[in-house]
Amino acid sequence: MNADAPQRIALLGATGSIGTSALDVIARHPERFVIDTLAAGSRVDALIELCKKFHPRFAVIADPSGYEALKNGLSDCGLRTQAAAGAAALNERASAEDVDTVIAAIVGAAGLDSTLAAARAGKRLLLANKESLVLAGELLMQTAHASGATIVPVDSEHNAIFQCLPAHGDNRNVSRIILTASGGPFRGKRRAELAEVTPAQAVAHPNWSMGAKISVDSATLMNKGLEVIEAHHLFGMAPSRISVVVHPQSIVHSMVEYDDGSTLAQLGRPDMRTTLAVGLAWPDRVASGVAGLDWQQHSRLDFEPPDLDTFPALQLAFDAMATGGTAPAMLNALNEVAVSAFLQAQCSFLGISALVAAGLNTLESEPASSLDALLAADLRARAFGAEYLRTH
Ligand code: NAD
Ligand code: MG
Repeated sequence: MNADAPQRIALLGATGSIGTSALDVIARHPERFVIDTLAAGSRVDALIELCKKFHPRFAVIADPSGYEALKNGLSDCGLRTQAAAGAAALNERASAEDVDTVIAAIVGAAGLDSTLAAARAGKRLLLANKESLVLAGELLMQTAHASGATIVPVDSEHNAIFQCLPAHGDNRNVSRIILTASGGPFRGKRRAELAEVTPAQAVAHPNWSMGAKISVDSATLMNKGLEVIEAHHLFGMAPSRISVVVHPQSIVHSMVEYDDGSTLAQLGRPDMRTTLAVGLAWPDRVASGVAGLDWQQHSRLDFEPPDLDTFPALQLAFDAMATGGTAPAMLNALNEVAVSAFLQAQCSFLGISALVAAGLNTLESEPASSLDALLAADLRARAFGAEYLRTH
């Protein structure tokens, strides 16, 4: 990449919450960042609206049935953006020669293929899609290592840790990393109080505005569980050296503790534009549209241990990580099935962790020897989840 030429970006998941934050930062620096590709799942109209503003060379809709509408819509607007559809087109743009940076912001295991394609092609990979690391963390990290791809985490906690770790990449004198968790909308509640919780209540996060799936994950604390596994892979950190602390204000985004007793933390407002700006410009810094902290307003920072009795999902994730093999892939798939059912009022809030626990108790973990083994485990877990929902 020519140092003076603008970075050419493929944004996968452009219509989502992370996609919107990324475009906000990108639009502030047209001399540094150019959009090559915008990709979305199925919302053709929303994708066309973004194309009108950002004039990408390619627009990809993952759902193949959206192709005609996308193609016609783009040409009706007089845009030169080329339409494409389907998983192969996503992978092609994620690994294209003329793309420097891929922002992996698709939600769920659906993002794995394109994330792996970007890693294989040696891209600068801004990784929001944490599910791909939970599903295939070792494989993804090995793939990136082999190709020379740079992974910059854009999950806020991991981005904070990325900023606080030693610049030389040697974690020898790091004693542990501490992930902060907001505690979600139900912090302080007892289990019995969560029986009747609705999707609308679960997605109403106190500090962050995010997509539906991750909002529910934050409410169950499964999000923190996925993030512990994510951190384990991203930073090569043993599970025993990863801690979680609840910090309701979401100002301290995570911390790194060193052998000498120092703890470094990254602080900021809960706004993903900061995280994305770090990823886009690293090792430079660029304006993100997010103001610094106001110490009159943010005068108090609280910390407390997570309540694992009320929120068993976090422990389930620690357990799946300890089991290893295909267990984390199954954890992720079971959770995706349960959250999707909860959002469609086909599963209760407490049923989400009950389904995941039942699946992990029933299904055997196998060695995560290949991508095929991981994908087979993912499918088995989804089948278990569907059956569980039918019978409970
Ligand atoms: P979202 O639901 O708002 O957006 C998801 C995006 O993925 C949309 O653009 C959608 O079109 C696309 N998509 C969905 N299914 C697809 C498929 N099968 N193929 C291709 N594209 C598909 O989700 P989000 O909140 O932006 O989260 C995206 C990812 O980032 C998730 O993995 C989430 O865990 C992670 N993340 C999000 C935040 C946040 O603040 N929103 C923070 C940290 C990490
Ligand atoms: Mg996070």
